[in-house]
Amino acid sequence: MWISILGCSGGIGPGNRTTSILIDDDILLDAGSGVGDLQLQQMAKIRHIFISHSHLDHIAFLPFLVDSIFSQIKEPIQVYGLPETIKALKDHIFNWSIWPDFSELPNKENPVMQFNIMAPHTSIQVGDRKITSIPVEHVVPGVGFCVENAEGKSFAFSGDTATNNSLWKALNKLPSLNTLMIESGYPNSMEALSKMAQHYTPAILADDLKKLNHKPHLLISHLKPGMEIQISEELHEYLAEYQVTCIKSGDSIQI
Ligand SMILES: [Zn+2]
Ligand SMILES: [Zn+2]
Repeated sequence: MWISILGCSGGIGPGNRTTSILIDDDILLDAGSGVGDLQLQQMAKIRHIFISHSHLDHIAFLPFLVDSIFSQIKEPIQVYGLPETIKALKDHIFNWSIWPDFSELPNKENPVMQFNIMAPHTSIQVGDRKITSIPVEHVVPGVGFCVENAEGKSFAFSGDTATNNSLWKALNKLPSLNTLMIESGYPNSMEALSKMAQHYTPAILADDLKKLNHKPHLLISHLKPGMEIQISEELHEYLAEYQVTCIKSGDSIQI
């Protein structure tokens, strides 16, 4: 199973793309600005898009993606999310005011995109990969996702989250966990803001990781631009017993 990091930054700027992860060539987790680096043929191969929550850095390029591949695909792209996430997309993005409602185009019978409600703790099987939705703690209703393949390899993605119990409880139920992509958006000195924005700092993440029974390779995402070095140094200090990689857009991992 290939995990391609299209974007994972907490902001924009040269080389920085917001959250989007391509699994093999047909599954997308979130649709931030990293999607914009794909070739048209790569975009057309994406069949399933799982959205962690409604914040703009995780959905910004979904409208452009479906517009770009409009003439390229015959079957609708399936978009999955919590009821609140799908409602936010319909009400605030695909509302004919900000962007056309591509779930009705070119017609309602065979649109380019279909919305699917995905409740927490439910799974969707796509080929030999199973994607499971795990509730997390954020400013808006949000989930992370776990992707397991037929060989028993597993990759989990936290989405955006503050300290919580649900993610760790769900991950502990997995027989194994190879790789965990988890956010740590702010340095320890910005703990007050991180609590308001409901993101991790290295110290809070280190505390929460004590709840995890696995020792996965940690891929750290969502670092605020300009603070990458500070956060990275704190991560290596607080998470010394883990293999820790501060990922960037363009990275690929095979598990
Ligand atoms: Zn968010
Ligand atoms: Zn975010």
